Amino acid sequence: MMRFELQARLTLSSDISGFSSEFERFIAEANQSILRKGAEKLAVIERFTIENETLCLWITSEGTLRPHNTLLQIKNALSKELGTSHHIGVRDITITTYTISFDLPRPPRKKVSIPFADVTIQDNQATMVLSDVSEEFLRGNYIDRMMNRVREKVENQYYEGKAEFWKLIWKSEEKPPVWNKDPTEEMERLGWLKQGPTKGKWFYRPQAAAILKTMETIAIQEVLKPLGFQEVIESHIKPFDIWLKTGHMEGMPYEFYYVAEPRTRDAADWERFIDLTKITKEVPTEELQKNLSAPIAGLCYAQCPMIYWSFKGKTIAEKSLPVLVYDKTAISARYESGGRHGIERVDEFHRIEPVYIGTREQLLTVRERLLERYKHVFNDIFDLEWQMAWVTPWYMQQAGKIGDESTQDTGTIDFEAYMPYRGTRQDSEWLEFQNLSILGDKYITAFNIKAQKSELWSGCSGIGLQRWTTAFLAQKGLDPTHWPERFRKYLQDLPEGIQFL
Ligand code: ATP
Ligand code: ZN
Ligand code: MG
Repeated sequence: MMRFELQARLTLSSDISGFSSEFERFIAEANQSILRKGAEKLAVIERFTIENETLCLWITSEGTLRPHNTLLQIKNALSKELGTSHHIGVRDITITTYTISFDLPRPPRKKVSIPFADVTIQDNQATMVLSDVSEEFLRGNYIDRMMNRVREKVENQYYEGKAEFWKLIWKSEEKPPVWNKDPTEEMERLGWLKQGPTKGKWFYRPQAAAILKTMETIAIQEVLKPLGFQEVIESHIKPFDIWLKTGHMEGMPYEFYYVAEPRTRDAADWERFIDLTKITKEVPTEELQKNLSAPIAGLCYAQCPMIYWSFKGKTIAEKSLPVLVYDKTAISARYESGGRHGIERVDEFHRIEPVYIGTREQLLTVRERLLERYKHVFNDIFDLEWQMAWVTPWYMQQAGKIGDESTQDTGTIDFEAYMPYRGTRQDSEWLEFQNLSILGDKYITAFNIKAQKSELWSGCSGIGLQRWTTAFLAQKGLDPTHWPERFRKYLQDLPEGIQFL
């Protein structure tokens, strides 16, 4: 059940007190014509009042036609009628109150509120009351999005605290670990790594850098090159409009590092800032804020959004399908806050992200081949104890077909490694060191990407170099002589590094 009740105030260009009967006729006519489709009443103007220049209308509907959309139609019809007969125009419209009642799939567990409206909920019946709404607001299609947001918030209450969907799909055999220390702590102790200079960032000295770079080389030589992936280089700074399209902006605004531009590049505008800095030898943060624009972008969170953006509005030639590209240049930044640990959960990490675009069949094949190459790396080169699980965050399951377990066409596979320093295999949390997704046409549609004939799907895989590194070192230790032979083909000995006194 849906019910819309709208009260609008139209301000006209002159006094209309004498036109009562004309309005009566106009409204009766509107109810019979523009507010009707055959026998069906789409919306009804229930009544009206006139006072000087002001016309008030009460419009209701059961939802087929939203009264606020009707209102704009009524305004146009009225302007036309009054314009020709009396040279009177409609100056302004406001909605004094707008009450919208609609059903929810289930009752909320606690109070729900949203901007622009007061929300009350009785069992399964939600009611939003808006007051003093402008015409621009109505044109923006906000009303339906507000209803959706209320529904979504109620549904989310049922998922809060629930673990995401997780189902084991493959598991390696057990591998006896070489040691059970936390590799980050040991590398810090040995001076291979230095924490900082800011939260969740690290300085990788030659030994640690060599291991990380080896991970990158292996990913490219053993996985991406053999499958024909081509390298691209994207910008590190992501404007908000890209994240608006992918949903990241609403998805994780609390994890971004934001980018602000100087308000001007004119040194004269920065004079006071420079003076203060020179005199106090501190950064005058208040003065700085005056010289900056509001953030317009964020640092890279994942590489795929900008790769999709690069294809925006394009028609891809059939012979270029499947598109197989990867970026390894942009560095991911995430504000992990309390979750930070060692180099495995950091605020700044190095990731290679392959992205694939093609038909459903092509992508299922790409996934098979990627899995085969990844298995080769983790089994034959790293000799790792690891597993793969089918995972679907609940917000994805909700959002539609992605993660449909019955077909497993779309969705995400997490790759997880046993971390001996964390405890037993059974009781400790394994580390997600990478993932692989097929996301159907979600981003293809968002960025309007087309092919000559084929229906396109897309997907991506996040290869986290810090995660590969810690997973490997946590099981194999820091002594290269204990490392698997196949890995040593890529990194025989560590660089000497620098001695400190
Ligand atoms: P998590 O659940 O561990 O936070 P996520 O779901 O946020 O991971 P994705 O956004 O799927 O991770 O990113 C894919 C890959 O990027 C991960 O598998 C991992 O290799 C890497 N990654 C993500 N966050 C971090 C981090 N904070 N530090 C290091 N690597 C990370
Ligand atoms: Zn991605
Ligand atoms: Mg995360």
